[in-house]
Amino acid sequence: MFRQISLIVFAILFLSACSKETPEVDDYDPARDYFTFANTDAFVTEHLVLDLDVDFEAEEFRGLAILTMRRLDPEASEIILDTRDLTIAGASVLTAGNAEPAEHRFGETHATLGTPLVITVPAGTGEKFDLVIEYKTSPESSALQWLPPELTAGGKFPMVFSQSQAVHARSWVPLQDTPALRITYEATVRTPEALLAVMSANNDPLTPRTGEYHFEMPQPIPSYLLAIAVGNFYFAPLGEDTGIYSEPELLDASVYEFADTQAMLELAEEMYGPYDWGRYDLLVLPPSFPYGGMENPRLSFITPSLLAGDRSLVSVIAHELAHSWSGNLVTNATWRDGWLNEGMTSYIESRLMEVIYDRNRVDEERVLMYRELLLDLEEVPEHMQALAPRLDDTTSEDFQGGIHYSKGQMFLEYLENEFGREAFDAFLEAYFQEFAFGTITTEGFLDFLELKLLSQEGASVTREQAEQWTYGPALPESAIVPESENLAIAASMAQAWAGGEMELVDVPVADWSPQATIHFINSLPDDISFEKLGELDAGWGLSDTRNAEIGRTWFIQVATRRYTDAYDELEAHLNRYGRGRLIAPVYRALAQNGEDRDLAREMFERARGAYHPITVGWIAGGFEDEE
Ligand SMILES: [Zn+2]
Repeated sequence: MFRQISLIVFAILFLSACSKETPEVDDYDPARDYFTFANTDAFVTEHLVLDLDVDFEAEEFRGLAILTMRRLDPEASEIILDTRDLTIAGASVLTAGNAEPAEHRFGETHATLGTPLVITVPAGTGEKFDLVIEYKTSPESSALQWLPPELTAGGKFPMVFSQSQAVHARSWVPLQDTPALRITYEATVRTPEALLAVMSANNDPLTPRTGEYHFEMPQPIPSYLLAIAVGNFYFAPLGEDTGIYSEPELLDASVYEFADTQAMLELAEEMYGPYDWGRYDLLVLPPSFPYGGMENPRLSFITPSLLAGDRSLVSVIAHELAHSWSGNLVTNATWRDGWLNEGMTSYIESRLMEVIYDRNRVDEERVLMYRELLLDLEEVPEHMQALAPRLDDTTSEDFQGGIHYSKGQMFLEYLENEFGREAFDAFLEAYFQEFAFGTITTEGFLDFLELKLLSQEGASVTREQAEQWTYGPALPESAIVPESENLAIAASMAQAWAGGEMELVDVPVADWSPQATIHFINSLPDDISFEKLGELDAGWGLSDTRNAEIGRTWFIQVATRRYTDAYDELEAHLNRYGRGRLIAPVYRALAQNGEDRDLAREMFERARGAYHPITVGWIAGGFEDEE
């Protein structure tokens, strides 16, 4: 995923973290996934077959999930699967062609984890068997957003798409929903004839539109990478192995914006070893897609808010592509090790951007990243500031804001600086080779780091120093603070203009990157007058910008400062996008400026119908918390 998790979500965590009582006997196991009900020590899934009808009228998927399972514990007689809001019509066990009905019941529902589905395995079932589950999803499925035609770019056809990470796959497939397991899958999906289905699998750009589509995913993936979308999608190639799916209305703009994708793919292979997944395509979704991007293998799902017209926001594409190695190929064993997915991906993203574009641009993005990290560190409680914090409190899946992204990136930049780029690149390539198609814990990473680098003669980093990053709060003193000359100039001009020492027309914004513009806005002094803000808005057209990141930055300032002249445009921004990163901090700034909580809630009530269920959960959760 791409840096999206909103500050609002942190508040949920604070409450739960503070109120949690220490258990008398501490049996915390850092390697255990606390976000699943599945008894993976007794049974594991190896393969999944889906056979689904996509019903837009009922807003549900209906059909079969067939899990090829292996029994690890000969004594075990019950399989526990993860589900959320699923209706189960029946279950049976297939061995050697014989189907035998299997009893099933639901356990107690948990707000974050969903509802365990307990299936009794018939006596005599062998070590390997197929578990067949007939089921349907609910219109409330937390992974799926059902879009009526008016919420799509074309306005003529409905659409549905999934977001499974972190714990939402269970809301459209009954399964063992944990990153600790990998499965291969195949699927048959029936849709209205005019529409095309795509999945995180072998999409064929030449597939005829028949209303029945078949998919295979031969590489084993963790369940959070299961993905599907059905809509009026068309394909356009970018390069030999890369292309774009989107509604026809967005296709040309997407091809222009993401033209460098093939070059990024080839560069990443040069640096980190072969791309093991076949094609790499992008699916550009409507504005309600909750994230910047989601690294669904072979087919990253992408927000259209990146279509700025100047390729200024494509670091998200570098990020999602980088996940093909960090995350999809080598996967965090549990969500507590999420920094191994996100921090390493942010690091690689930055490396790719440096070669495809240039060092100045990367430095600008790193300075903005660092600023957001410092804000996060002010909000996140100390014990959650570790890269790998204790994580057995399942109150919230989004637990530490952007810390695992940015602090993780800075940890790897520190290691690169200490060992030199050549040695560190070789380390990463070896890491991907060693752990390919497997999972890894923070401890496993540290052991491998020790083996390959820390134990070398003359190594300048000790294990203890590395563990300060993974287990300690805040940023170690050894962190390399990002600097950008361009942004330093933008910040000093913000001060000079606000202080009346220069005219706005003399600020060379036309020559600046959007990142410099963002930094200028963020650097305005607290006591700047509304008159000045009005002059800036009129001069630079901030309230009407189509650059989503500039809009985000501006409207956070508008809300924080209660610059009510721009509230109409602020609400338009909240209606234009559904990506959490772009809107959640604006709602939060409005709700917390001391005056406008009710207004924020009213705006949310007016806009929420167009948001994805995950986004609605974040923002509604923020309001509940503050009361
Ligand atoms: Zn990511």
